[in-house]
Amino acid sequence: MHNKPEMAYGEAILKKTIGDVMEDNCPFCQNSDVYIYKRDQKARSGDSRSIYKCRKCSALYPYPKFNKAESSKHLLSISTNQDGYKFDDPTRAVSHRNPLVKILRKCTKCRGTALDIGTFDGRFCFILGTVGFRAYGVEPQKNAVEFARKHGLEVFQGSFPEAVPEEVCGRKYDLISLMEILCYVDNIEKTLRMINGMLNDDGCLLIKNHQGYSRYYDSNSYFSRYGDYIQCILTIESLRYYLNLTGFKIVKITGETSTDLLPLGMGRIRNAFLGKVVNKIYNFTMLEHTLLDIKRADRLIITAKKI
Ligand SMILES: [Zn+2]
Repeated sequence: MHNKPEMAYGEAILKKTIGDVMEDNCPFCQNSDVYIYKRDQKARSGDSRSIYKCRKCSALYPYPKFNKAESSKHLLSISTNQDGYKFDDPTRAVSHRNPLVKILRKCTKCRGTALDIGTFDGRFCFILGTVGFRAYGVEPQKNAVEFARKHGLEVFQGSFPEAVPEEVCGRKYDLISLMEILCYVDNIEKTLRMINGMLNDDGCLLIKNHQGYSRYYDSNSYFSRYGDYIQCILTIESLRYYLNLTGFKIVKITGETSTDLLPLGMGRIRNAFLGKVVNKIYNFTMLEHTLLDIKRADRLIITAKKI
């Protein structure tokens, strides 16, 4: 019999009480029924942490958390303004083969106003603008905001859910996107509720994120992809839980399992020819809901609408 991984790794934890509050309750739903899912995950800082799982909301998360200062060096090391850096050729970025563009065209009219949360250098904000939206972005890092604005994008400095600038939350949107960013949010419920309030009634939410049950994590640390300051490692169950809770219904799930096919680091290849090959494999392996083993999918793309 093949055990589910969470059962194989799962072990009870000794509860510590500080006053009336359980110190190690789930940081997202405050449920006390949590357990150690995987031990000794090496962080980029060299330190290590255990990954916990909440039985109620199914989120995976590192505990104890690293604080922001521990990851600020990593954030600063991400280059946003290197010489020669430029956005992709727009015709390539918005080609019909780009799975995200395909989804955008299928699920939205690509008209009206869009917001990309955690837009970093503005790349997805740029794509949203090119397919037809009036696109805005919000991003916590100052140097990334400056870079995006220098490229003519309407990107504002701020973060969800606590520091959202008026220019961002004062508008209503037809599309809001969270591209590999929900894992850094420390209050998922509050963030998704805010997003729900900022969407027009027939507006669309687009989420892309790697998920915690991917085979990738059988041999790689949970910190290897998104750095030490991850708050949550999303699972398909946790996404379903929080979308239901905050007034969304899932319209479509797409995903990919291409990591098993690609040697680590291939995705970062800048070489034009190899880049094309990698893109082709990536696009080929984007699978529809019905064909994909969602639970083990490496990356999920979810579109949701307001209930
Ligand atoms: Zn929870």
